[in-house]
Amino acid sequence: MVVSLAACSSGSSSSSSSTGGAAAGAGGLIGVAMPTKSSERWIADGNNIKQQLEAAGYTVDLEYAEDDIPTQVTQLENMITKGAKALIIASIDGTTLTNTLQNAKDNNIPVIAYDRLIRNSPNVDYYATFDNYKVGVEQATSLLTGLKVLDASGNKTGTKGPFNIELFAGSPDDNNATFFFNGAMDTLKPYITDGTLVVKSGQTDFNTVATLRWDPATAQARMENILTSTYSNGTTKVNGILSPYDGLSRGIISALTSAGYTTADIPVITGQDAELDSVKAINAGEQYSTIYKDTRELAKVAVAMATAVLTGATPQTNDTKTYNNGIKVVPAQLLQPVTVTKDNVKSVLIDGGYYTAAQVNG
Ligand code: BGC
Repeated sequence: MVVSLAACSSGSSSSSSSTGGAAAGAGGLIGVAMPTKSSERWIADGNNIKQQLEAAGYTVDLEYAEDDIPTQVTQLENMITKGAKALIIASIDGTTLTNTLQNAKDNNIPVIAYDRLIRNSPNVDYYATFDNYKVGVEQATSLLTGLKVLDASGNKTGTKGPFNIELFAGSPDDNNATFFFNGAMDTLKPYITDGTLVVKSGQTDFNTVATLRWDPATAQARMENILTSTYSNGTTKVNGILSPYDGLSRGIISALTSAGYTTADIPVITGQDAELDSVKAINAGEQYSTIYKDTRELAKVAVAMATAVLTGATPQTNDTKTYNNGIKVVPAQLLQPVTVTKDNVKSVLIDGGYYTAAQVNG
């Protein structure tokens, strides 16, 4: 596989540089397909990849598809037509790119799956992502910590609840969503079994709790329905919410505050991506935690993979067994997620340069 990738990099020296500088653009065009601008992480991902590729001497076609699958397919076909030397793709629906990737293969274009695995295709060469199962474990662990079932070191406090919780999962067409959910449920199940946690609505099945396209409004509506169906007797309260993404968490918080919850009784709510509005919500005591994934580092991994395959080198990977896409196991480089609560917003996000203090406190 690596050998054929190396071979296809030969002849990739056409220069489409217009920005001056000896190396600018000399490596050729790289297509970068991102799912949507509606979540800020993908904007940061796209910008980081573009900057880093340009610094390495490539020209970049960066496209966003606003969560529309045919738009993303068209964007990728255009990149192939324009002579892209490699594609870096964060897919919308990981199951719908089989034909497009066959076209890429026919044109000797290597493909790197970015953050989300692309399924049902032999033509995915490498995968740059975070440890997605661990993201789910961390989300569930922070839910337990927020409920004080576990202490800060992860030890059981002896608190038995019972705590009422509700579960949300991500988009069923995003391979990550099941990894997050499985990691979380493997962690929560013993506590559900022993009665410490009670999923009061009874909704525990992935397909029931999934949120198509990670849409905040869908999560908000489902939370509203659950509050009406399960928590409207005036006494029963929801104490914890497993939410896999900050955008969903904000929708869920809206539903809860509309129903009368305040910061005094708002449930422990998890999240993901350390989006600025959610970091503010954490500081305000509305959201308990988020899972921070440094998009600057993920961009570095994807750029290193692309430049390696285009120069005949073998990209670094640290996982060659987890990510079976239905046709093959895609070699992956997994980064580690970091749980952020009010206690470490400053040390992780501000001191780490992800946000300025003015952004977080503004
Ligand atoms: C990403 C998450 C993100 C979610 C919604 C997932 O594939 O891994 O970081 O929260 O998509 O955009």
